[in-house]
Amino acid sequence: MRAESIQVIGGALAFKWTDGAESFVELPALRRACPCASCRGETDVMGVLHKGPEKPLSQRSFEIVRLAEVGTYGLQVYWADGHSTGIFSLDQIRKLSAAD
Ligand SMILES: [Zn+2]
Repeated sequence: MRAESIQVIGGALAFKWTDGAESFVELPALRRACPCASCRGETDVMGVLHKGPEKPLSQRSFEIVRLAEVGTYGLQVYWADGHSTGIFSLDQIRKLSAAD
């Protein structure tokens, strides 16, 4: 499954998929689902979860300044507060929008 077009519309990210379906994901929900190691944490060989320091989210944490497609199935989101290490899979995004 691939995205034909991706754009920010109002407070949501709108996807048009090549199968004709459309998905909308609210930006706060997208940001809270950020899959990067500092948001999600990483488990070491001992099974201990390490997370970066919890950073308070602000209004700018939910604004997108740039989107970059990563390969065929990934989407890197550059948030207005400077966070950009999360790469979302298109699968994950489609699940997020289905969960609404
Ligand atoms: Zn993150």
